[in-house]
Amino acid sequence: CFNGGRPAEDGTYSARTKHGMISVIIHEVGHNFFPMIINSDERQWTWMDEGLNTFVQFLTEKEFDRDYPSRRGSARNIREYMGGDKTRISPIMTNSESIYQFGNNAYGKPATALNILRETVMGRDLFDHAFKEYSRRWAFKHPSPADFFRTMEDASGVDLDWFWRGWFYTTDHVDIAMEDIKWMQMDSQNPDVEAAFREASDARQPEDITQLRNANGGVPQSYLEADPTLNDYYTTTGKYEVLELDRQEGQEVLDGLSEEDRTLLESGKQFYEITFRNVGGLVMPLIVEFEFEDGSRDVRHIPAEIWKMSEPTVTKVFVTEQPAVRIMLDPHMETADVDMGNNVWPPRPEPTRFEAYKGRRGYSRYGSGGENPMQRARRNAELNKSEGGE
Ligand SMILES: [Zn+2]
Repeated sequence: CFNGGRPAEDGTYSARTKHGMISVIIHEVGHNFFPMIINSDERQWTWMDEGLNTFVQFLTEKEFDRDYPSRRGSARNIREYMGGDKTRISPIMTNSESIYQFGNNAYGKPATALNILRETVMGRDLFDHAFKEYSRRWAFKHPSPADFFRTMEDASGVDLDWFWRGWFYTTDHVDIAMEDIKWMQMDSQNPDVEAAFREASDARQPEDITQLRNANGGVPQSYLEADPTLNDYYTTTGKYEVLELDRQEGQEVLDGLSEEDRTLLESGKQFYEITFRNVGGLVMPLIVEFEFEDGSRDVRHIPAEIWKMSEPTVTKVFVTEQPAVRIMLDPHMETADVDMGNNVWPPRPEPTRFEAYKGRRGYSRYGSGGENPMQRARRNAELNKSEGGE
């Protein structure tokens, strides 16, 4: 019986073997620090060494190779676990003897929580300072969870009570939905512009089924068509007609505006009133990306404290320079939102592929069983050689 990381007899190895080997070495070296030096009690709180160590393992893997396929640490990788059956999930703050799903509970979720604190909640500078301070302060001592929570807060000056409570003491997950989006523009006070706007927006309304069928022969001739003397002001004046008087009055309103108000009016700014709903239970910052017609983007960060204003929904107005063609909540999947289907406006369908035939099976980069990709590449090279006609 051999330990992991052993190549096949021909010297090849799968990607899984390679990354498993590198990851486990990084991980075990990390244990020199957590818990051997920052000496927490693993039998009591496994996450204090395995979670913290898995977090520094993640940082190290990404320093080794920018594209390192880290199993644990990225917010997107924890979504399936956190959104799963809650009767089989324990809070991180559970004694190690009583935990369901040990790996996700004590390694994956705490490592991800720390990464989210670093990337999304505190920022790298503050987080790194506080995390190093925790390590310095508790080196060769015996920290408990409260010592970790407290040091992260007082070294950074950031109130993280809400984060510890949600991520460490509950089994809630993140699912924030963009429930409603109202797009507003300012009334230009120019009656011609506004009449054209009303006409265009009426034209976008779906046709009424009764009118549609009547026009297609259901009512061959209306009374008004049969007898024009039935017409009056309302049937002969266009709905969007603008009177000279309207123009005059509009101009008077504009003349009465301050310089500042007029600049705002002429700016062409767009207003989006977005209602967010906390479906999953964990409060998180709102990261909202507006994408414009010219392809440019504008990302707004709203701290999690916005949820103090109201729960479970909160409404905020965003002002942009151009109309948005797409609005996306958490565009880099950094909050571990388990349902991204309610994070995009307008909704967009995503194709997936299914196989129409029973074809090759069991082949992957990670090649569990059968041929590994290095062996396949060798066989391919042989094929090219024999077809070359030498
Ligand atoms: Zn470990």
